[in-house]
Amino acid sequence: MTAHDKNPADAQPALLNLVGGRDAEATDRQLIEVLCPSDGKVFAHIQRSGAADVDAAVKAARRAFEGPWGRLTATERGRLLVKLGEAVAARAKELGELESRDTGKPLSQGRADADAAARYFEFYGTAADKLHGDTIPFLNGYTVAVMREPLGVTGHIVPWNYPLQIFGRSVAASLACGNACVVKPAEDASLTVLRVAQLAREVGFPDGALNIVTGYGHEAGAALTEHPGVDFISFTGSPEVGSLVQQAAAKHHAGVTLELGGKSPQLVFADADLDTAAPILVKAIIQNGGQTCSAGSRVLIERKIFDRVLSMLVPKFEALRAGPHDRDLDLGPMINAKQQRRVNGFIDAAIADGAPLLAKGAIASDAPDGGFYSAPALLGPVNRDARLAREEVFGPVLSLMPFDDEADAVALANGTDYGLVAGVWTNDAKRSMRVARAMRCGQVFVNGYGAGGGIELPFGGVKKSGHGREKGFEALYEFSATKTIVVNHG
Ligand code: NAD
Repeated sequence: MTAHDKNPADAQPALLNLVGGRDAEATDRQLIEVLCPSDGKVFAHIQRSGAADVDAAVKAARRAFEGPWGRLTATERGRLLVKLGEAVAARAKELGELESRDTGKPLSQGRADADAAARYFEFYGTAADKLHGDTIPFLNGYTVAVMREPLGVTGHIVPWNYPLQIFGRSVAASLACGNACVVKPAEDASLTVLRVAQLAREVGFPDGALNIVTGYGHEAGAALTEHPGVDFISFTGSPEVGSLVQQAAAKHHAGVTLELGGKSPQLVFADADLDTAAPILVKAIIQNGGQTCSAGSRVLIERKIFDRVLSMLVPKFEALRAGPHDRDLDLGPMINAKQQRRVNGFIDAAIADGAPLLAKGAIASDAPDGGFYSAPALLGPVNRDARLAREEVFGPVLSLMPFDDEADAVALANGTDYGLVAGVWTNDAKRSMRVARAMRCGQVFVNGYGAGGGIELPFGGVKKSGHGREKGFEALYEFSATKTIVVNHG
């Protein structure tokens, strides 16, 4: 669709890119329709950008990095980020509602995401002037300083599941280090990213420090990863695209962090406090409709309490309701029709493969027909070799599997290609640390589970879940590099 043949019934002007501090149409004047997943109807348009638009954004970022943005002190950068955090917090209601409409997530989740985004800007704003280098004892007559410097221009490819949060966590850390950013949000959910970038302009970020180019992954996304002017790429999304991103970045020797999802296990031992665990086991897969990279999608249960845990989870699953974002039920729709088909296809295939369907939640009776709803499903015992036991669904589908003893539990938990998060439920202190240490993943929660939470906590995966770390101080090390200065002063 071009900028000029929009449906007249949808009178909203198309949203614009932000390049070098200015609102910009895509060079080709093509648009992408934005659908609300709750009813499948178009409610906005964004720019369908291409390589020329990405090139303009990268050049604007480079000018900012070598100019006004690069000249700011770390304290000045930090103050701008804190101001942006305050602006986001002040508009958390508006941003939360927009996020909710754009992604379909329940209103309260949209608002929580806006609060989290504000916290990312605050956290990294106050960290900006605390990132320091080191000195190293060396030969007599030498002083060695290790400086920590920005990388230059960083590219950020953001997925649709938590646009506000993932945008916040990745650009706040990069900007705190002094980099200039070019962001390509997901074609399915770009609106809050564009809105926060406008706020950045309003609070006084120099032109070009933060640029947003919307569009499709294979067009604008690929152009960003291939651009030789980009020094580093932060990517969150699917393993398949993550691999393409890494290959494209390698061609011009840019570094990457890849956050690629998971098949995260929660291990429930017989001595666990099951009353505390049960609601958290459900929330860990239902939050954001299961469209969370760190969703706890496998519950591994010590065999002797398998039936007891099952009997606790079944009524909770049966009580779950999916519905439109503004009803603020347990979960909203899936992001789009493709994701809905994928989730329903996984459930149907698992049942056909022999996995018992233990419970199903419901779709609210007044949910619009055009929405992309999937009813939550609880299945088990799921065969260890089944597709459902090994592959990421990215939907509200929970697999239960029994284990025999601690060694079996650890082997089962580590037995997929992924390694992002794990949860361990036990009241045996020694076992909790033993098992946490044995998990092959980036984060372990003991007697709790924090899907998506924890701005201060380093986060990222191993194996097919990716590499590099977001969040906490670790992200600042990813978005900066050391320079060692060796002075011979005799
Ligand atoms: P995706 O990997 O295709 O999209 C993620 C981002 O990458 C989007 O901004 C997209 O435009 C961009 N992209 C796509 N192709 C690209 C390319 N060739 N070069 C550069 N950028 C490109 O993910 P999806 O199709 O939106 O979802 C598919 C699956 O990915 C989901 O079912 C889920 O398993 C997984 N996923 C994981 C996360 C996560 O948080 N780890 C987030 C979203 C999706």
